[in-house]
Amino acid sequence: MSIKIALAGNPNCGKTTMFNDLTGSSQYVGNWPGVTVEKKEGKLKGNKNVIIQDLPGIYSLSPYTLEEVVSRNYLINEKPDSIINIVDGSNIERNLYLTTQLAEIGVPVVMALNMIDIVRKNGDTIDTKKLGEMLGCEVVETSALKGIGSKDVAQKAIELAQSKANKISNNIFSDSVEKAISKIENIIKESSNDLNLRWFAIKLFERDEKINEQISLDGNMKSEIEEIISDCESKFDDDGESIITNERYEYISKVIKQTVHTSNKVKVSVSDKVDRIVTNRILALPIFVGIMFLVYYFSISTVGGWMTDWVNDNFFGDFVPNNVQWILNSIGTADWLNSLILDGIVAGVGAVLGFVPQMAMLFLCLAILEDCGYMARIAFIMDRLFRRFGLSGKSFIPILIGTGCGVPGIMATRTIENERDRRMTVIVTTFIPCGAKLPIIALIAGALFKGAAWVAPSAYFIGIAAIIISGIILKKTKLFVGKPAPFVMELPPYHVPGVKGVLIHMWERSKAFMRKAGTVILLATVVIWFLSSFSWRMQMVDIEQSMLASIGRFIAPIFTPLGWDNWRASVASITGLVAKESVVGTFGVLYGFSSVADNGAEVWGRLQSSFTMLSAYSFLIFNLLCAPCFAAIGAVRTEMNSGKWTLFSVGYQTGFAYIIALIVYEIGSLFTGKTFGVGSAVAIAFILLLLYMIFRKPSKVDVEVTDPDMRRKEVV
Ligand code: GDP
Ligand code: MG
Repeated sequence: MSIKIALAGNPNCGKTTMFNDLTGSSQYVGNWPGVTVEKKEGKLKGNKNVIIQDLPGIYSLSPYTLEEVVSRNYLINEKPDSIINIVDGSNIERNLYLTTQLAEIGVPVVMALNMIDIVRKNGDTIDTKKLGEMLGCEVVETSALKGIGSKDVAQKAIELAQSKANKISNNIFSDSVEKAISKIENIIKESSNDLNLRWFAIKLFERDEKINEQISLDGNMKSEIEEIISDCESKFDDDGESIITNERYEYISKVIKQTVHTSNKVKVSVSDKVDRIVTNRILALPIFVGIMFLVYYFSISTVGGWMTDWVNDNFFGDFVPNNVQWILNSIGTADWLNSLILDGIVAGVGAVLGFVPQMAMLFLCLAILEDCGYMARIAFIMDRLFRRFGLSGKSFIPILIGTGCGVPGIMATRTIENERDRRMTVIVTTFIPCGAKLPIIALIAGALFKGAAWVAPSAYFIGIAAIIISGIILKKTKLFVGKPAPFVMELPPYHVPGVKGVLIHMWERSKAFMRKAGTVILLATVVIWFLSSFSWRMQMVDIEQSMLASIGRFIAPIFTPLGWDNWRASVASITGLVAKESVVGTFGVLYGFSSVADNGAEVWGRLQSSFTMLSAYSFLIFNLLCAPCFAAIGAVRTEMNSGKWTLFSVGYQTGFAYIIALIVYEIGSLFTGKTFGVGSAVAIAFILLLLYMIFRKPSKVDVEVTDPDMRRKEVV
């Protein structure tokens, strides 16, 4: 028989770190809330019979957000054998709210008083024995990060699970509430013996509607219960739910008073000092821009760029093609197979793989920024900015995650409980350049702008601008109007990034990229090679007579207004739907990277003949902002749970991309000597339209969107 142990706790208290420590896996640990939105299972190191379950972070068991629903359903319906309640010791008061609820659901609980290293560093002490007595569970001090105590907690949890010991603390509420609860318990006792009565009684007292789905009460019972509740309510002059909430808080502050001793040293920590500058009202944004500029400059233009050049010139330019050629010659393969391998696979996949160093560098920089705590500040800074436009900083966390890959970014929107804000965030998340768009940026920057330092960072800021502009525009329409949800977030103290964690993070992301190159991209490349090598009559022909050329020429006029109506670029943009790396892979095949690649400049020369700087930039903008790849569209479909919304999303993104690219190209042309024409007029019309959409009055709020977060605010 296996034992199931669940890890439950507030967001960002160290659940995933503990999970990784216990199971030896390398799940994504992010230094901000909302990273784990799905539950993850793993086996305890050294005891395969024990299954550990990492749950999304929650503040309470009231199902307001999707994570709360996931966690609550698991804890209540699937019932683990025991729960490890992870509590951020440096933030204990807020964390205990959930603890008081966990103690009620009838599953044995052991508390891991985590971040004990921070507590100790602050000079505080917590009386764990007393704490455990008051809350009715054992308490073990842990530091998941440093690997202290994790094993002890797990051992305790196993013992609890085996003994089924279940102490329910029932001294939390005042006498009259306790009495009411036990009366309700008595009434529902008959309806099922499987229920955990106390939990259900409290939920009924709170008039939690979700509970009615799980318990069937006849009319008599209902009215009896109602009478008990209203009795109590009139005594307290408050509604059932607030009574319970208030009493929990009162109890918690009593617990804190008796168990936590803070050192009275007034200390301004280094973190606070840094934050005074980094989150300063005036300096915050310039600092952010500066840091992101450096990150992209470092990873694409300089260090990463040199490594990529070296790899391209020597490895994929000389070594691989020459050797493959040699092998093929010595075997004496057929011409078409030669072409498939060299002009197709080596050229296409090689073109993509060549960007691995740059990508790894970017992932490394982002992982460091994340782990040290800076990215959490960005969400905070962005909240201040977003709020002016009616957006919430909550929308920014998915976007931060989206810099790696849009799919987890889109999934991370689950932390947003307001449905409208959530949809809007899903729509804008993929505007941020994900890792897969990096090769496009690097290629264009290198080939057409001689590696100019501003090109790569500008792609990132175009993404941010697109998000802000779209946010403002969408938020004013009937579909999304409403007050921004409050955004409460703990700023974790800065810490020196863990080398292991950062490297794992970089490796995992780079690995995913390479795996994609070997599967999806490879397949796409083969298809592109096939279509570009054969005519409709299935004869091997020159590329200009190929099927792909005729398809490309058919779609190319769509992009004429954007300045790049050559068929290769059009085809490349379309293949971006398969995976964004495919844009570069397609260029690799269509421009014959492998045959000329021993001199980087020569490859780029071919690209230069198809683009001007302006049209290349318009191409870049379109490909950055248009519909994401199929994987991300799939994620949008899952998260929105609606085909219509998915279409809206893709349509909006592509339309927006088209308009911005058109504006940039047409207006830019005016500065490079083109005379004013129809295109310029259209561009100006679009600018006016955008300005109107940005500055018009917002639509009226038609239905008052309930704001479950208001309650959350009390909790935090
Ligand atoms: P989750 O949201 O609860 O899954 O939290 P994570 O496991 O993602 O951790 C959030 C942050 O807290 C990460 O930056 C961790 O490195 C850090 N962290 C986790 N446990 C500890 C600990 O015991 N001590 C310290 N100082 N930091 C920790
Ligand atoms: Mg987590």
